[in-house]
Amino acid sequence: MKNIYLFLLISTFTIGAQAQRPEADHFTTSEGELTIQPVLHGTLMIQFNDKTIYVDPYGGKQAFDGLDKPDLILITDIHGDHLNEDTLDGIEAEGTPIIAPQAVRDNMSEKYQKNTSVVNNGGKHGDLGILIEAVPMYNLPEAPDAKHVKGRGNGYILTLGDKRVYISGDTEDIPEMRGLQEIDIAFVCMNLPYTMDINQAASAVLEFEPAVVYPYHYRGRPDMSDTAAFKKLVDNGSKDIDVRLRNWYPVYE
Ligand code: ZN
Repeated sequence: MKNIYLFLLISTFTIGAQAQRPEADHFTTSEGELTIQPVLHGTLMIQFNDKTIYVDPYGGKQAFDGLDKPDLILITDIHGDHLNEDTLDGIEAEGTPIIAPQAVRDNMSEKYQKNTSVVNNGGKHGDLGILIEAVPMYNLPEAPDAKHVKGRGNGYILTLGDKRVYISGDTEDIPEMRGLQEIDIAFVCMNLPYTMDINQAASAVLEFEPAVVYPYHYRGRPDMSDTAAFKKLVDNGSKDIDVRLRNWYPVYE
């Protein structure tokens, strides 16, 4: 009997741990606090000076339970883990300003098109006192039938006070990423076959040297990329890059 209770206790604990959204991280900028909240896969929430930004909201309403409503939504690409209208409906995003590339707007229903400002690769947008720059994200070698064709999707660089935050979107190890300058916080994807492996990701990160890097968007084949091995590669190459491993795949119910 005792063993059954122990078993129940352990399983409850394990399920509970899996279900939990990771804690938010807080950073100090020249213009106030910056909060980063990992949500799911390629989805995150950024808060800066009482403004809330969702990036690629995905995972349904339940993934956002208890979080503040967004003042702005950034979308990187057309695939369902980035542009997800079920989730937009669930969080009642109709009327919320959205920034997205043209291809994303073209794939939206009219109710979301209305609020979407198009920014393509190389474009800039100032909103809520935040500078948002759209940067390329694509697969190599470039090909018209690539999963991520050059020019379609956006990575983003956000300037928040004196901090610059890079969100890779779904990209391979492209020269535009390697050439990034003065990035404080980076979100870098690593999953096969859609983006890049951990060796490419680590090599690129060692070149553009963000102060902090979060591996995100790492579910693929095999089921998950080995982010601990990614951290080892980066740690071995540089003492100046803080690799933060978080569980980007909690179970929301
Ligand atoms: Zn994706």
